[in-house]
Parts: sequence; structure tokens; C-alpha cells
Amino acid sequence: MNESKGLPNRKEVPEKLTWDLSVIFKTDQDFEAAYQAVDNQLSDMTSFKGRLNEGAEVFQQAIEKLLTVSNQLETVYVYAHMKNDQDTANATYQGMYERVSALAAKTGEAMSWFEPEVLKIPEAQLNSYFEENSNLTIYRHFIEQMTENRAHTLSANEEALLAGASELFSASSKTFNVLNNADLQFPVIKDEDGNDIQLSHGVYGQLMESTDRSVREAAFKNLYKVYEGLINTFASTLSSNVKYHNYDAKVHHYHSAREKALSANHIPESVHENLLEVVSDHLPLLHRYVALRKELLNVEELHMYDMYTPLTGEAGIKYAYEEAKEATLKALQPLGEEYRKVLETAFHDRWIDVVENKGKRSGAYSSGAYETNPYILLNWHDSLNHLYTLVHELGHSVHSYFTRSNQPYVYGDYSIFLAEIASTTNENILTDYLLHTQKDPHIRAYVLNHYLDGFKGTIFRQTQFAEFEHTIHEEAAKGTPLTSDYLTTYYGELNARYYGPSVEKDPEIALEWSRIPHFYYNYYVYQYATGFSAATALADKITKGEEGALDHYLAYLKAGSSDYPIEVMKKAGVDMTQKGYIEQAMRVFEMRLNELEKLVQELKK
Ligand SMILES: [Zn+2]
Repeated sequence: MNESKGLPNRKEVPEKLTWDLSVIFKTDQDFEAAYQAVDNQLSDMTSFKGRLNEGAEVFQQAIEKLLTVSNQLETVYVYAHMKNDQDTANATYQGMYERVSALAAKTGEAMSWFEPEVLKIPEAQLNSYFEENSNLTIYRHFIEQMTENRAHTLSANEEALLAGASELFSASSKTFNVLNNADLQFPVIKDEDGNDIQLSHGVYGQLMESTDRSVREAAFKNLYKVYEGLINTFASTLSSNVKYHNYDAKVHHYHSAREKALSANHIPESVHENLLEVVSDHLPLLHRYVALRKELLNVEELHMYDMYTPLTGEAGIKYAYEEAKEATLKALQPLGEEYRKVLETAFHDRWIDVVENKGKRSGAYSSGAYETNPYILLNWHDSLNHLYTLVHELGHSVHSYFTRSNQPYVYGDYSIFLAEIASTTNENILTDYLLHTQKDPHIRAYVLNHYLDGFKGTIFRQTQFAEFEHTIHEEAAKGTPLTSDYLTTYYGELNARYYGPSVEKDPEIALEWSRIPHFYYNYYVYQYATGFSAATALADKITKGEEGALDHYLAYLKAGSSDYPIEVMKKAGVDMTQKGYIEQAMRVFEMRLNELEKLVQELKK
């Protein structure tokens, strides 16, 4: 990589800009000891196998042994993965990370008997354990999550038959991945400077943001030409995968694939239904935003390849890291004193690995284990976008911190359905802060556009995906063949309905369904949209200082997985089985769209 030439070596990075992992293990020898301790306990775990029906005492001992080992494993795992990420070229930590990954697989295997064996204990016997042994009370929800879908578990023989065929069931999804990631040959096109550039998934995303329209058009047309050539194959892999979801749901006595997929997280189907309905009702807002895009780009015809190029140029404002810390503390003030103290600890106790160095993993994340600090990896650049990233990752880390300091290990994590809510709530609060403090119309336009684009990509686009996914599952269940013609016609219509009359009906976009990996995930994408809506609604309540809003929000941050995600969100003050929170998010979108429309007119003068 040419770019890494100017980067410092890991050793040259000032200590205050690195994360402090020495509070996990002072030395690598301490890591070795902890690693051994986990390895030594694997046989203790398996010694409980086949014994859960012996009584409440043994049941408790088995649960606690499993949780203890898994807690210890997390700590050694997280240490090794962060050491490896800070400099992936360091052979010592590469080796450490490989060993710990193998240990994690071994531990998983040594625990794998537990859940099936719990499901074999008759309900009455399980209930008697909880009555006899009060030490088990705390594990009630943990066990209930495993057993609540018992009615959908088939006989051991039937489940064994299905499990034995699981590789066959996932074959079409694997074929899609191999085809999409390895075998597809994309052409070489010209970039902005007339240089040859090899098209790929990653390059395509970048080129869609190019300010050179002919580059965007070439990328768009050439990419879809490749998919078009294999369109019947893609229809076959997608159709087979949908049939598998429908079959799996049917044999497990669910009404639909959606019911089965959502039940894994105890999410009622109304959550999904409400999302599709409310977004559908508010599509005119997206049409207005698309029309504004057309006006700003000043084009005769707006095409789908014009949808991602930035509207407002550079941000016009930069934040050095020290300034970003200040801005974070100020922006997140509505989250109160308790929250601010954790932010200060994060900065002071070096939770954050700030700058780039040679070999450092790219991107940004929040990570950590129950027993460690919730660390953050960044690759800092002085910009408004990186301030957003900092605030986003701190949202995850403070959520983890509150959860871990208020819940026992067994509930010390949170589900994917909840995870992005804490981080995007912070982003929303930052947007609100910037709009309250920045007077320069160019900066305001940039911030508004940043927000509206995020909303478009996360709520409108992911709901479009969710609607497509749901319709094809329903149609397949009714016996409609999911041919390439059917999928392309339907996707084209759906896309036109979402983006509205200002955008041309490019035939290529009707093929988009063929390249989206998420359509193989089984009712996953809707969570992006529900999470972003909830975050918008929460930030709105908190920044307006609504009575009780902050306390409710902190209760959510502290709840971990002690209850089902929907119940946790009710504690936060958002009832996701109702439509109100998505409608509230739409009002925020509309308000900010109104302002950007007005600003655009003023800036023209
Ligand atoms: Zn995130």
C-alpha cells in the first residue's frame, strides 16, 4: 500500500494516543496464564454433560462453570484480537490471535451440548429446579430464552435429519457468495483522471460518490452488465434460499419465514409490519429529497447513479482530535452528568487507540469484554466525519460500560437489534448540537445533508430491502416461481415507488436484487431501519428535555440482555410494537428537509 509510506511505526505513536491494554494483562506472560486457565477448564465443562437431569444443584453448577469459562475466554480473546489489530504485521500477536481463535472454537465445542440438553429436560422438572434452588432465579430469563421456542422443536430424530442436511440447505447461499466474491469478472474502466481502474465491489462504492458523472455512469452500467449476464443463475440461488427459509419455518410449525426469523429475538411480527407501513406512507418525503438532489446537481435527468455523490462539497469545518474531544463533551451534554463522567474516563484512561500506524487495522470499532474496558479503535483524520465516528463508537462503548457495570455476566451483552441504537442516538444528538451552534449556512447545509443521506440509506433503503425480501418469501410460499423476470420486474417497480418521479427508471437498477448479500440473511436488514428510527426518536426526546426521557434512556443503556430487546426498548421509552416512534423519526426528517430546502434557495441568491 502506497498510503502507509508516511505512517509511523506502532512504536512511534505517542502513548497518550494509544489504548491501554496493560490493565487487562500487565505482560504477555499474564496472558499466557489466563489462556492456560481457560484451556484447563474445558474438561470441567464437559464433565457436566449428560448430568443436567440430576437435580437443581448440578444444574446451577453447570451453568456457572460455563459462564465462568466463557467470561474468561472473552478476556483473553479480546486482548489478543486488539493486540493483533493495532499492528497486524506483528508476528507475535498474529500467533497469539490464531491460538486464541482456536481456543475459542474448542471452548464452543466443549459447551455445545448444553442447550440441546436443557431442551430435553421436561418443562415440569425445569420449573421444579427454579422452585427448589433460589440461586437459580437470576438465570431464569437466560434459560427461558432457550426453552421458549420449545413448541417449535421437533423430535430428536427429526432435528437430527434436518441438522444432517444443513450444509445442503445452505448450498445456494454459499454458491451466491462464491460467485459474487470470487468468480465474477468485472471490467476495467476509466477513473476521473482517465486512468484504468479495475471495477470491484469496493471500488464501485467509491466511484458512486465520484463528482465526475461520466465515471459514475460507467461504473453503474459496467457493473450491472456483469450481473445481467448471470441473471438466471442469481435468480436460482436467491429463489432456492427463499424456499429453504419457507421450508424450515413450515416444518417447525411457524406460519411464515418471517415469524420464525423474528422469533429468534422474540420480536413480534408487528414490528416489521409497522416499519413497512409507516415508511410506505412517508415515501413522498423521500421523493422531495430526491427532487432536491436533482435540483442541486442541476441535471436534466436524474439517474440512480447520481444518488450517492455528495451534494454540498467539503464540510467547511475541521476538528483536530483534541477539539473533537471537547466537541463530544459539549454535544453530548443532554445525556447528563453520569454519562459525561464515563466519557471523561474513556479519554483519561486511554480506552481509545486514536491514530493510524503501519499495519493497523482500518476502519473504526468499539470492542472489549465483560471484564475489560470497552475499547475503541479509530484511524483518526481531522474532519467532521471523524467526529461523527468518535461519537458513534463512544455510544457503543458507554452502552457496554453501563451494561457491564449494572448487569451480571450472563446479561452483560446486548443483541444486535439494540446495539446500533445507542451509537446512532449519539450521532443524532451531535447533529442537533451542530445545528444549534453552527451559523454558517454552508456548514449547516453539510450537516443537514449528512443527516438526510444517513436517514435515506438506513431507513428508506433498508426498508425497501425489507419489503422486497418479505414479498418474495410470501410469493414463493404461495407458489409463485421466483424467476429472473419476476424478480427484476418487481424490483424495478419497487425501486420506482421508493425514489419517486424525479429519477429515471434506469433498467440496470431493476437488477440490483441480484447483487445484495443481505437478501440471503433471512430477515436481518429491517433492524437497521428500526434501530435508526428508534435512535432518532430517542435523541428527539432527550434534546427536547422531555420529562423522564433521559432516565428512561439510561435504563436502556444499563439493561443489557436482562430482558427481551422489545421490553428493553419499552424501558427506554420507545414502544417498537407501535408506529409512533417511526412517525416521530419521519417528522425529524421532514423538519430537516424543510430547512435544507430553504437553505438551498437562500444560498442560490
Ligand atoms: Zn455501530
